Amino acid sequence: MEKTSGIATLKGIGAKTEQLFHNLGVYTIGDILLNYPKDYDKMPPVTPLSELSALLESAGDAHNLMHTGQEPAAGTQEPAITAAIAARIDKAPFVRAARNMQVTSLTLQEQHVKADLVWFRMPYLKSTLKLGSWFVFLGKMTRKGGSFHMEQPQIFTPEKYQSMQNSLWPCYALTAGLGKNKVSQTIRQVLDGLDLSVDYLPEEIRQKYGLAEYNYAIENIHFPEHENALEQARKRLIFDEFFQFILSAGMQKEQMEEIVNDFHFLPLEQKGLWAEQVMEDLPYKLTEAQKRTLQEIRRDLRGRKVMQRLVQGDVGSGKTIVAFLAMLDAAQSGYQSALMAPTEVLAMQHYQNFTELCEKYEIHIPVILLTGSLTAKEKRRAYERMQLYQNAMVVGTHALIQEQASYDNLALVVTDEQHRFGVKQRESLFQKGSQPHVLVMSATPIPRTLAIILYGDLDISVIDEVPARRLPVKSCVVGKTSRNTSYEFLKKEIAKGHQAYVICPLVEESEGLKAENVTDYTEKLKQRLPAEITVECLHGKMKSGRKNLIMEQFARNEIQVLVSTTVIEVGVNVPNATVMMIEDAQRFGLAQLHQLRGRVGRGQAQSYCIMINTTDSDKARKRLEILNQSNDGFFIAAEDLKLRGPGDFFGIRQSGLLEFKLGDIYQNADLLKQASEEAHLILEEDRKLKAEEHQKIRAQIGYYLESQSEIVNL
Ligand code: ADP
Ligand code: MG
Repeated sequence: MEKTSGIATLKGIGAKTEQLFHNLGVYTIGDILLNYPKDYDKMPPVTPLSELSALLESAGDAHNLMHTGQEPAAGTQEPAITAAIAARIDKAPFVRAARNMQVTSLTLQEQHVKADLVWFRMPYLKSTLKLGSWFVFLGKMTRKGGSFHMEQPQIFTPEKYQSMQNSLWPCYALTAGLGKNKVSQTIRQVLDGLDLSVDYLPEEIRQKYGLAEYNYAIENIHFPEHENALEQARKRLIFDEFFQFILSAGMQKEQMEEIVNDFHFLPLEQKGLWAEQVMEDLPYKLTEAQKRTLQEIRRDLRGRKVMQRLVQGDVGSGKTIVAFLAMLDAAQSGYQSALMAPTEVLAMQHYQNFTELCEKYEIHIPVILLTGSLTAKEKRRAYERMQLYQNAMVVGTHALIQEQASYDNLALVVTDEQHRFGVKQRESLFQKGSQPHVLVMSATPIPRTLAIILYGDLDISVIDEVPARRLPVKSCVVGKTSRNTSYEFLKKEIAKGHQAYVICPLVEESEGLKAENVTDYTEKLKQRLPAEITVECLHGKMKSGRKNLIMEQFARNEIQVLVSTTVIEVGVNVPNATVMMIEDAQRFGLAQLHQLRGRVGRGQAQSYCIMINTTDSDKARKRLEILNQSNDGFFIAAEDLKLRGPGDFFGIRQSGLLEFKLGDIYQNADLLKQASEEAHLILEEDRKLKAEEHQKIRAQIGYYLESQSEIVNL
């Protein structure tokens, strides 16, 4: 068995199952190892028959709540729950033939309570289930009429079940048609078939930080023997994620450092520099932090080596204009530049913004849009123009890095909301030019010490100041009874000429999920608000053309209320919007709420963020109130962590940063620091080695990196 082989080479995987795995992003045997469980179930405690009723009624709901975070849908039938019942066999099992198969039934009875158990095609059970002996039966329990039913329960001796009480059962991300058992069985097969005994992490490092061996970790992340084993497994694998990431970044930095800046940017002293002109004519003055950042960028652009710089600045700090000015420097010097955004909506907004700026300040350079939703013809036209104009600004999504996109004279690439992209994508865009300058922008609130570790390959500029004259957003957390007041408030703001966003967690009604959805909510608001207020909806499942149209109309105030999912979470800039109302706010991470709130408070008017907490939970309210206390993204993240405590593995992911599979840079900050130290020692050692040994370490590092897989949510 090889890690790189396709999963179809495994037993029991036909074409159909293969496709289902592909839908989960699992293609190779290696991928399946990295398909970690999303959560774990405990073996249920043994319940006597007489207590089954109570269990079904109460535990059913609690179980659902605990594992999905969702309340059971109102009006649904009593849920089937997984239960373990212990009973003595007082009546012999009975085997009968039905529809070409043999069905074994067993009736258990304790006082008045009866349970019927059935197994298909297992007639031999008759001899196992001996009269007078005790067993534990584990399976899905339902109630039909007066008695309980279980189909195909698993059978254990009480001793065996006792010994398994501490194990945890993995819950994987599933797609329709791919059952829990299939996924577990497949992973079991891979764990048994692969030789995972080689541990690539040096023994000293493992000893030093008390890290489990790789094969133990990978076994126990999937099938934990007990809770402590799971914790050990997570610790080791999180260390690995960070370690691999930092090694990869470190190697990239080394490569970059050797690259000489071959571009000749016009000297800054030159009169008539476009960017200078624009800066003077802007309706606002750049903040000191923006000026300093631009200066740092310009020093790099004209320096000896190519630039590798991160611009970190909280939402609304004005990163876009800084990027635009740097791109203008490139254009005037006769070079192309590209700006990559993580969503179509954002790419479109940047494109329009740049086009308008160029028109307004009479700068004659082509601004080219390149996104996945362009028609083939439009794309061809964009490619042609990219070949034709050596000083173009290209703005787009990941379409910018697709094979067909080729540039002429690309000197500067900017990625906006960099945390949404992986290192590899950053690299691909880099490879599009003959080693262009790289500028990445991020609003992720991370402390400088962590930023230095995570972006070790980059120099960092911080925009730590928001434009003056801007009022902090006023926030409040309210219950659903305040909805009507909120709508009245919305009406008042709109009467003043402003606009509003309303965020719902779902696109459309979802079975069993009690949360607001944009489709129904939009209709509801249309009814609720006066006809002169235009309400429209926006979500990720809409066609791009439609999305863009809605965004444009919202930007022009032809739509006053935009009911949207979190597609507008990053980057969107409509300064006239002053209200952000978030339904089911407790469902979102605080960092995400902070980003959402960052969509308002962009103009000069006072803005508001109304978070509707639709639960009665005190914990949820407390969490949300952290947002009331501060507008500082980093403070919010830190407080959230304090409140939840570091042991909270499966809470809402705080950072979503770089999409580590298990690691979270806040919760696992210690591991991140340790991994960073060790990775740098290895890189350091590697630099000192002779070529031949160097190859050896490189091969090993290559092995680490092989298993690194990056997820990008676009
Ligand atoms: P972000 O850093 O979140 O990407 P943007 O670049 O979208 O922020 O800027 C937010 C808004 O602030 C935009 O409308 C922009 O025109 C405006 N802006 C940028 N810099 C300044 C400034 N120095 N003074 C006033 N407004 C500014
Ligand atoms: Mg932005």
